[in-house]
Amino acid sequence: MARNNYAALEHMLVKKFNYKGREIVAQFNPCRYRSAVAGGDNASQREHECFLCSAHQPHEQESIIWNENYKIQINPYPIFNRHLTVSSIEHRPQAIVPYIDDMMSVAAALPGYVLFYNGPKCGASAPFHQHFQAVPFSELPLCREAIHDDCDLSVYFPFFYIIRPTKKEAKLWFHIIEEGLHEVFDTGEEPMQNVFCWSVKRQMHIIIVPRSKHRPKCYGDGEDELVVSPASVEMAGVWPMVRESDFEKITASRLQSISEEVTISEDDKEHIIEYFITHTK
Ligand SMILES: [Zn+2]
Repeated sequence: MARNNYAALEHMLVKKFNYKGREIVAQFNPCRYRSAVAGGDNASQREHECFLCSAHQPHEQESIIWNENYKIQINPYPIFNRHLTVSSIEHRPQAIVPYIDDMMSVAAALPGYVLFYNGPKCGASAPFHQHFQAVPFSELPLCREAIHDDCDLSVYFPFFYIIRPTKKEAKLWFHIIEEGLHEVFDTGEEPMQNVFCWSVKRQMHIIIVPRSKHRPKCYGDGEDELVVSPASVEMAGVWPMVRESDFEKITASRLQSISEEVTISEDDKEHIIEYFITHTK
């Protein structure tokens, strides 16, 4: 299955757009169907057959065990020609704050890759099993444009970008932003977010994309609707489309407006920045 899905990437139809200087990519990628419709009401029913637990994985699926508590595996439903799943050996709920150290350590051990995290309600197809994914850094326009200062980042949508020389400092800033998110979005649960982390030239980089909702109002399988459930990769500028008709009619401005619809407002971002400034004095 993995061989066929990776081979299919070679001939995949891809469109590259330039939206006011930022790159947006659409691909026609039917193997992502499960992710495009994931996160619905059936998640709890599927927990008992969790596909990240070794007991339910095919015996062919191999792992590299990392630090005794994570397994690194090939993602059999790839978006890119290198696509890894980094999942906890233990079955425990998807969360970011308790595991940011792990995320940074794995990122530091995987040069050339970006690790990303999908919150349980904004893109994780296994919200009940803690995991990250890793893909080549060069494939994600958001991370590439952020580090190389290739475009005016305000074209995107509100997000936070942390660059610190040590994991300790990056973690401190990350925690203050997370507290600010809790302050502004007081839901009692983890604020919805997608998080990216990579390490280059002895600097730790973290991007936090806070989310206001998971799916856009145009989600659906009708003719005027789109089968898209934006997660980290989409927020970073790459949109796998599982229906050919969606791929054919998609435009950069529609993808941009979906991105803005599912992220937070500039006002909310300002409030979090105020919180950050007050708490780092
Ligand atoms: Zn599991």
